Amino acid sequence: MIKKTNQDEIESFLVDASNYKGNCDVVYFPESEDEIISIIKEANTNKIPVTVAGNGTGLTGARVPDSGIVISTEKLNQIIEINREENFIIVETGVILSTMLEKLKEQNLLYPPDPTEQNCFIGATIATNASGAKTFKYGPTRDYVLSLTIILPTGDEIELERGKCFSVNNKLTLLTKEKKSIDVVIPNIEMPKTKNASGYFIKENMDAIDLFIGSEGTLGIITKAKLKVLPSPINTLSCVVFFEKEEDGINFVSKSRELSRLNENNFSARALEFFDRKALQFLKDDFNEIDNSASCAVWFEQEITSDNEDALTEEWFNLIEQCNGKSDNIWVAMQEVDKMRIKEFRHAISYKVNEYISRNNFRKLGTDVAVPDDVFSDFYFYCQSLVAESGIDSVCYGHFGNSHIHLNMLPKSDDEFLHGKSLYKNICEKAVELKGTVSAEHGIGKIKTDYLLMMFGVEGVNKMREIKKILDPNYILGRGTMFTPD
Ligand SMILES: Cc1cc2nc3c(=O)[nH]c(=O)nc-3n(C[C@H](O)[C@H](O)[C@H](O)COP(=O)(O)OP(=O)(O)OC[C@H]3O[C@@H](n4cnc5c(N)ncnc54)[C@H](O)[C@@H]3O)c2cc1C
Repeated sequence: MIKKTNQDEIESFLVDASNYKGNCDVVYFPESEDEIISIIKEANTNKIPVTVAGNGTGLTGARVPDSGIVISTEKLNQIIEINREENFIIVETGVILSTMLEKLKEQNLLYPPDPTEQNCFIGATIATNASGAKTFKYGPTRDYVLSLTIILPTGDEIELERGKCFSVNNKLTLLTKEKKSIDVVIPNIEMPKTKNASGYFIKENMDAIDLFIGSEGTLGIITKAKLKVLPSPINTLSCVVFFEKEEDGINFVSKSRELSRLNENNFSARALEFFDRKALQFLKDDFNEIDNSASCAVWFEQEITSDNEDALTEEWFNLIEQCNGKSDNIWVAMQEVDKMRIKEFRHAISYKVNEYISRNNFRKLGTDVAVPDDVFSDFYFYCQSLVAESGIDSVCYGHFGNSHIHLNMLPKSDDEFLHGKSLYKNICEKAVELKGTVSAEHGIGKIKTDYLLMMFGVEGVNKMREIKKILDPNYILGRGTMFTPD
């Protein structure tokens, strides 16, 4: 097994896309479950902190160690089986999402969870319950995980299959490969009804597998996963619509969402993504076809067949007209090359924001909040006016179909950064007040632990911590992620 201790060689493991920075002594590159077990058993005996690393595209510092050792999962990169008859794929944890999607596409299969950044490892997308544009129609990663192999911080191995092990009367009994049984108390904690990636997943009579999905590398190391896949749709209509008034763009999202939920005559957006004026300006150099007079844009995707293509296209264009979408500059993509261009447009905004933060050496100040649909519009304008009044530059975009906002502040000085941090806190407080979440997809990591407390209170967070104590008695795994050590 490769092991690196030279600081120059391990530097890339001491940061992620949030620009949170850390330290560690050694990075291991195990090639098998047995090697992981032996590393983690020794670390557990010696109480050495262990951080699991995916590909470092996380936006919360969760994979960044504060000390101890890092286990890189990059050598566990085999696609084990693609099964077209039963619609599943079995992969090792370090398979890159884009590679897996390509392989599935060759077989006409679709794995819907599609974070905008696809250069990430499958294991990490499960650990963060990642979601993306298609989550509006298809739900997050959680909905596609059929089984997992997990190494616990004690070195015990468990295999969990969806539908096989549920909590009963707030107790979950996990059985290890060596037939050791571990009882976990599942507390009563009310979770938001929105898309959510804050804290452990808790539910009455919950499936054991769900506890590990979204646990951000704090409860166990995922080594293998069986994932549900779907037959690829015949075709998709992909469009970017520009609006002169922001209210019209927001209204278009809201109407598209309502109609999609009704799903009459197959009208069903699979993605509903929004970009504000500043986001469009931020992208103008790379995409000069952006409409200069627009105050916002919405990208939508709709799955189509040759039978319903005309009727659905007409319905969408009627809706665009009703909502005052600019009819003289709609990007309509029917060919693969144009669809890719729109995807690049969506990816570029997230990428450029992270690049700005990194270049100016600030920590990311981008919200990941979601609120219930019925309060979304007011919430959006509240967030925008708060930041506008401050004078801090910002760009706003996000998965608005899921009422989920990425409002990114772009500070130019330390003072602006500190001011931005207090606005960020105000936005999270408002989201919690509206029964939403402080993180809908990126997770809590090391930079949002205060906001997890804001959301669930000390009592709620302590209850989650009790779960961790049972599975990780020496608190070695993902130390500092989700909770502060004490
Ligand atoms: C430009 C950009 C756009 C993005 N867009 C989205 C988006 O649309 N939706 C979204 O959800 N996210 C998005 N992200 C965030 C990020 O891509 C996801 O969180 C992704 O899941 C992280 O994968 P990674 O391999 O880079 O993991 P890392 O950052 O390396 O790790 C993330 C977490 O997973 C844990 N982990 C990694 N592997 C394992 C394992 N095998 N077992 C247990 N725990 C493990 C780590 O300890 C850490 O807590 C975006 C990021 C960028 C930079």
